[in-house]
Amino acid sequence: MTQARKQFILALEAVTKSFDGFKAIHDLTFYMDEGELRVVIGPNGAGKSTMLDLITGRTRPDRGRIEFGRDIDLTRLNEWQINRLGIGRKFQTPSVYTDHTVFENIWLSLEGARGILDCLFARVDSAQKDRIHDLLSTVGLQERAATKAGSLSHGQKQWLEIGMLLAQNPKLLLVDEPAAGMTDEETHKTGELLLSLAGKHSILVIEHDMTFVRQIARQVTVLHQGSVLCEGTVDEVQADEKVIEVYLGRGKRHPPTTNEP
Ligand code: ADP
Ligand code: MG
Repeated sequence: MTQARKQFILALEAVTKSFDGFKAIHDLTFYMDEGELRVVIGPNGAGKSTMLDLITGRTRPDRGRIEFGRDIDLTRLNEWQINRLGIGRKFQTPSVYTDHTVFENIWLSLEGARGILDCLFARVDSAQKDRIHDLLSTVGLQERAATKAGSLSHGQKQWLEIGMLLAQNPKLLLVDEPAAGMTDEETHKTGELLLSLAGKHSILVIEHDMTFVRQIARQVTVLHQGSVLCEGTVDEVQADEKVIEVYLGRGKRHPPTTNEP
């Protein structure tokens, strides 16, 4: 193993995953540097969510290697063990405890926090309180600490869930289509949040909204039929013949352009 190889936070090598003979992920090789914010785009069915399922241990690969940090083989671990290593995943639909306050939601997610019943009767110590307020301020919800999570807007629920993930201090954050269903303003704020987290955490974002991709992306990976079609800056990817063909070839889908007026 070479020296350069050591700085990857995530490495997938020749990974294949079939469902009933259909290769959802096909000989996929993908590397991500520590601290990087990477965006993965691709048409529906390209295998983006399956890729996250494979990283998080929700699905097992048929073939290939998936390594985290310094040579940790993720394919041998279960979902819970992978989460404990510091890989947090944010699904598309927010899942927060709607009957609990924003503050309590973060509290319940803190590293080492106990179960929901214990928390109801336990007291928050001052170190925890500071940490919870820091997290709320990071995700822009400090004013909402006492609000029931159920009455937050869709965007605020998404930020709360990102805060809940951050409470576990993940090394790698996997975020599936965070801008879906958000207003333009919420989308922009989400972009700023993710940019502010990059460096401290490594972040892999799956996204469709090209305005948002342009806002946050340094390096974009285009996934198509379960493999990498192209990698580069947003401009490089948008100008790539193969990428244009894939999106145009789909007929109804437009090529990934920035939705500028
Ligand atoms: P994307 O997130 O890029 O839209 P997915 O990873 O969800 O794509 O799906 C890739 C392909 O794999 C699709 O054709 C999908 O139908 C198929 N697929 C994904 N998960 C399963 C599963 N659990 N069982 C059968 N087929 C699946
Ligand atoms: Mg998907």
